[in-house]
Amino acid sequence: MKPLVAIVGRPNVGKSTFFNRMIGERVAIVEDMPGTTRDRLYGDTDWNGREFTLIDTGGLELGTGIPVGQVGLTGQPGDIMDHVMSQAQLAIEEADVIVFMVDARAGITAADDEVADLLRRRATKPVILAANKADNASRRLDVVEFYSLGLGEPTDISSIQGTGTGDLLDRIVEAL
Ligand code: GDP
Ligand code: MG
Repeated sequence: MKPLVAIVGRPNVGKSTFFNRMIGERVAIVEDMPGTTRDRLYGDTDWNGREFTLIDTGGLELGTGIPVGQVGLTGQPGDIMDHVMSQAQLAIEEADVIVFMVDARAGITAADDEVADLLRRRATKPVILAANKADNASRRLDVVEFYSLGLGEPTDISSIQGTGTGDLLDRIVEAL
């Protein structure tokens, strides 16, 4: 089995955009969890000759056309955060490396703080902080604010443009 790299983080930070950039047309394996619909996507990829399996947590809520705000186990808004936290907990249990993705345009949110607390307290495997949507020079400078999450250096990336993703992948395979 290849090492597992899980991408965690609140909805809309760009987890699926990064995953799709890495997995592309290759068919991803979908795993359903009880009570949820298709909430984890697995795809094999490699970087600098290191193979690993990337996991997109957070489900297909956008892909299904259902707005993020309406997804949940019982349809209540609180379910979204429960889902994010349970995916982060699952990543802590099974992943070899966790990529915690945040949104450089939005800055730190309460949800980011909550996920960061869990990762700081419970993760025994490396956690790499990726600040996505750092699409330009000024946004790349702004990502220093994410140091305050207490998870080390944020790597700025733009999953849409592809900038910084090589640096993030270098960090991922070094941590494997
Ligand atoms: P997820 O919910 O974390 O999986 O987020 P998605 O990958 O679905 O992305 C949420 C939104 O952010 C989409 O509209 C993406 O096009 C957008 N997005 C993702 N990555 C970037 C990026 O690097 N820059 C910008 N400007 N937008 C991005
Ligand atoms: Mg997604």
